[in-house]
Amino acid sequence: MKKLSFAKLNEFFAAIAAKEALYLPVNNNVGKAEFKQWSEGVELSHALNTVRSAKDFFFPQTENLMKFKMEGKSIEVSDDRAECEDFVVFGVRACDAASFKILDSVYLVDPIDTYYKNRREHGTIITLACGKPAETCFCGTFGIDAADPAGDVTAWETPGAYMLRANTEKGEALLALVADLLEEGCEKAVAEAQAKTREILSKLPLAGLSTEGVGVGMTKELFDRPEWKTLSESCLGCGTCTFVCPTCQCYDVRDFDTGNGIKRFRCWDSCMYSDFTLMAHGNSRNSQVERFRQRFMHKLVYYPDRNNGTFGCVGCGRCLARCPISMNIVKVMKTLGGKN
Ligand code: SF4
Ligand code: SF4
Repeated sequence: MKKLSFAKLNEFFAAIAAKEALYLPVNNNVGKAEFKQWSEGVELSHALNTVRSAKDFFFPQTENLMKFKMEGKSIEVSDDRAECEDFVVFGVRACDAASFKILDSVYLVDPIDTYYKNRREHGTIITLACGKPAETCFCGTFGIDAADPAGDVTAWETPGAYMLRANTEKGEALLALVADLLEEGCEKAVAEAQAKTREILSKLPLAGLSTEGVGVGMTKELFDRPEWKTLSESCLGCGTCTFVCPTCQCYDVRDFDTGNGIKRFRCWDSCMYSDFTLMAHGNSRNSQVERFRQRFMHKLVYYPDRNNGTFGCVGCGRCLARCPISMNIVKVMKTLGGKN
């Protein structure tokens, strides 16, 4: 365990940024936190979480995949992606850190998504334990401990200093890089910070949210439940819930004619959109109720079915805070049988 006094935080950021790009939560001009690259003068946000999750670092909203040119019957394909440079992300919360495992289970299995893999290998994650979890948080429902997040390094905010614990070789290398700024850490201060966080967590409105009624083997039980209609009837199909979600992983691939060859790019897509799954024969989910059901069945039943019971939600609460009609996964869980 190491200690970084608050007075040395700027030097800590500067030392890392001198070696590789450093990103951290920063308040934007409307006071909402978003990840930005650090440079001198950039200040760490004290918001609990960023509006968009940290998945953007590994699975960006848009990216070019390749270019190709066609002349007659010949085609020239160029994969001109550069090897990703090393980077560090500071201030990732426990929920977002848990979401990386879910994304890994999709993108790092055969066939491996090499674009994603490249970024995962080059990124070092410093998580920050939550000091004041919000009323919309329910990571504990999925066994995530906001007081002890994963990551290459875990940081705890304690009076006057951050305590830092390296969890991986990458994390150890990072702390070695800034060793001059660190002192011996204090386990007791961490235990006290954790106890405070867990006390708050135990009193949150969603503290007792249960996964009863959803999960492995529940497809037949839940698929035709009449409640889907009432739950989904106000859904605007705006896709906001999918775009702020750290575990949503769907994308579309398109070709764009630049006038000097074709660029193939991919961008996030949403199962809430009417043209999602659109194929030559038409669409396999023609109504919003079918699309809505797909989103929640995927996170609460299909994903756990294929992943030893792990749910496809990390309880970050973003969809609770952002949906314009106040619909969210918690309402779905409660309606389908979970108790709070
Ligand atoms: S954010 Fe709300 S309204 Fe928009 S697609 Fe999701 S559930 Fe529907
Ligand atoms: S479904 Fe909602 S609460 Fe769950 S991970 Fe996605 S945005 Fe967060």
